[in-house]
Amino acid sequence: MFVYNEKYKSKKEGYYYSCPWIEHGLVFFKYKLSMCCNCGHEGSSEAIIRNNFTGQSIDWERIFKIKEIYRKYHKKGKIHNGCLSCPYLEEKKWDSAKYIDNLYISHWNECNSKCIYCFSAANPKEFNERKSYNVLPIVKEMYEKGILRTGGIISFGGGEPTVLEEFEELITFFLDNYFWGIRVHSSGIKYSPALARAINEIRAYVVVSADSGSRETYKKIKQVDKYDEVRETIRKYALQTTFLGRGLVGAKYIIIPGINDNIEELDKWLQANYDAGLYTAVLDIEENWYLKNRGNIPNHIFKLIEYAKKRAKKLNFNFELYERIQNVLDDRKKKKLLKV
Ligand code: SF4
Ligand code: SF4
Repeated sequence: MFVYNEKYKSKKEGYYYSCPWIEHGLVFFKYKLSMCCNCGHEGSSEAIIRNNFTGQSIDWERIFKIKEIYRKYHKKGKIHNGCLSCPYLEEKKWDSAKYIDNLYISHWNECNSKCIYCFSAANPKEFNERKSYNVLPIVKEMYEKGILRTGGIISFGGGEPTVLEEFEELITFFLDNYFWGIRVHSSGIKYSPALARAINEIRAYVVVSADSGSRETYKKIKQVDKYDEVRETIRKYALQTTFLGRGLVGAKYIIIPGINDNIEELDKWLQANYDAGLYTAVLDIEENWYLKNRGNIPNHIFKLIEYAKKRAKKLNFNFELYERIQNVLDDRKKKKLLKV
């Protein structure tokens, strides 16, 4: 449903509120096609294009018509209620040509890790029962028809991308056809030669989550004994980085209260990343715990974040805080309890 909202009525000639996903985005989910996957804001939209999608032939004209409907309403200041408060909405002159350059590939759930915080851990049957379809033939069709263009972002959700049967071929196809802006979050258990090439050619940003600096803690979190394999993958990806692309491989640490929320573990993780030759460290906080405790974050978590920032600076890392953890700090700032 599209609802008029004064805030989104552009007064500038030729301008309107829209986002890169409405304009030129497509998302492959396991059972559906959408325009976006940004469901973390008030409207919680995924802008669904087609339900019950399992790889059938796609009517591209219909997709572009749906995008045109969004544009028509947005130009009048009528925003889809699923898009309300979305941070991606922007007032500008948009290019309304018929093409896709932002792809989010998230049509499978299979993984080689069993992280205790994973959404699939809540209902493994539901997530593993139905097989995914192949995206590569659709990507090739899009490219051959001139629907898929370079210049946007190609990211992966899932599931663990490297366990997808078509993953190597997909990445190779993108690289051979001059795409860049590839973003992959990986468990790091399986090394991908295609990703290594993408890193070397400065065309992919890869984040590997170890969440720990020791095998014992890794096992508690991931419930598989693959710490050494992950470390080796990180080392091999880091070896591919060039001077210009040295920040393109990152390591992620999700703070999980009661398990790895201590300086000793975090220090070991930072040191292991440094020894592997990385330049980027990313911090996040466990989502389920965060949602339950948002108003009540214990002091030691703030101290841990502060410590990580300072230590990362000393090690000369690019240091990235994911949105949730940034929210934690912003909340704290607002309350003026601690100067951050
Ligand atoms: S929810 Fe946000 S990103 Fe998704 S289509 Fe709406 S405005 Fe775009
Ligand atoms: S690596 Fe990702 S998909 Fe796999 S179990 Fe962990 S959180 Fe889930």
